[in-house]
Amino acid sequence: MSNLIQAGYLVSAILFILGLKGLGRPRTAVRGNQLGALGMLLAVVVTLTNEQIVAWPIMIAGIIVGTVLGALLALRVQMTGMPELVALYNGFGGIASVLVVLASYDQVIHTGTEDLTYLIAAAASAVIGAITFTGSIIAFGKLNESISSVNSSLIRPANAIMLVGALAAGIAFVASPQGWTWLLILTVLGLILGLTVVLPIGGADMPVIIALLNSLSGLAAAATGFAIGNTLLIIAGSLVGASGLILTQVMCKAMNRTLTNVLFSSMGAGGATVDPNDVYEGKVRTTSADDVAMILDTAERVVIVPGYGLAVAQAQHAVRDLTRTLEENGTEVVFAIHPVAGRMPGHMNVLLAEAEIDYEKLIEMDVVNPTFAQTDVAIVLGANDVVNPVAREADSAISGMPILDVDQARTVIVIKRSLSPGFAGIPNPLFAADNTLMLFGDGKAAAVDINAAMAAL
Ligand code: NDP
Repeated sequence: MSNLIQAGYLVSAILFILGLKGLGRPRTAVRGNQLGALGMLLAVVVTLTNEQIVAWPIMIAGIIVGTVLGALLALRVQMTGMPELVALYNGFGGIASVLVVLASYDQVIHTGTEDLTYLIAAAASAVIGAITFTGSIIAFGKLNESISSVNSSLIRPANAIMLVGALAAGIAFVASPQGWTWLLILTVLGLILGLTVVLPIGGADMPVIIALLNSLSGLAAAATGFAIGNTLLIIAGSLVGASGLILTQVMCKAMNRTLTNVLFSSMGAGGATVDPNDVYEGKVRTTSADDVAMILDTAERVVIVPGYGLAVAQAQHAVRDLTRTLEENGTEVVFAIHPVAGRMPGHMNVLLAEAEIDYEKLIEMDVVNPTFAQTDVAIVLGANDVVNPVAREADSAISGMPILDVDQARTVIVIKRSLSPGFAGIPNPLFAADNTLMLFGDGKAAAVDINAAMAAL
């Protein structure tokens, strides 16, 4: 039976790796996802056959509860709520690791079978899992804007002290476990650290934190795998940990930040406060769908910049239709994709793929930026921070973040409902620039109206 279980785990691990490989390209992503899910199903079924882990009824009850909850959440979540859901999943992964390791320790202290590997793995799992759990809850709150950043200079020194304390508790636990005391201290410190490390991190740095928490949830699972001797958990956890770390690197690069900078400096949380009236008053020029249609009618090259508002408006299908109309009119149309547009890595790619917009039309920031100077019209649809020129200045909440240089296009059409700020909460001088026209309204309705106006020309 044991050989059968190991063989099943091996097949699951292969499916996870193939799944991850598939997720690397938009064209193969759906298949990759299916392979990963199949691997997970196989892993659960194989684990079920090993009655030593947990009795069958408990396993089956767990699968039913998990499936029902997962299906309900996935069916009910709005597309714009996906990032929050992903943040919660990271947190659930973290707390699951903590609970499994605490349960296993309960067994171990009764049987007296703890060895060095077990103790190190249990300590790592408890502290990393606990940090991931509370950190993800704060990230969830920040994403749905119910929690704002705390910019206290006292928090970071306190974090350093707690980190040293957690390290000391971990060493004490490994050196001489003596019952529950050290493991529980470690877990509680981890829970507090998750809160206090993520709380001061500014809105603009959230993409990095989401990726990092994803990686930590994997590392906690891998450590749990070592603690309970489950090879598949070690492999799957390491895969999540490693891919999350790569994503963290990608996000850091996209924000032009180092990880230490994100974690230990207050940048991205504040910056100078700017009065929106100083930026906008008397300078904003508005337009209508009819006027935009006339401008687009003569444009040779149009770049569409999708942002979070496109997801809110669910405008992807209307934008695809507008793209087709423009192309039939002989206009070249591409999409400029900023790595942190939206609220999760790859958010815009997923949305545009849903509307079957050709992947070849999605151009990354580094490639599209030099072409804005030769672009007739840049349509900014529901994007704000990723096109905010204050990122080029010192002392703003997004200083140093590379942006899409839409302001270099001949005409910029910004479609959004108001002059409200984006996620970073700062005014955007692009809206008051000489070559910018604001089309106020819902993103989907605006795209439909422009399309209709073009047809009527
Ligand atoms: P922003 O959040 O900067 O701006 C979105 C804009 O969309 C808002 O200003 C809003 O203006 C507009 N909007 C909202 N609803 C609609 C609608 N129905 N129709 C039209 N417009 C609408 O988005 P960006 O994509 O430019 O930037 C992403 C931000 O999110 C960055 O700051 C990034 O750091 C952060 N972030 C990104 C993550 C990632 O992994 N991608 C994760 C976490 C945070 P109005 O209300 O006036 O319509």
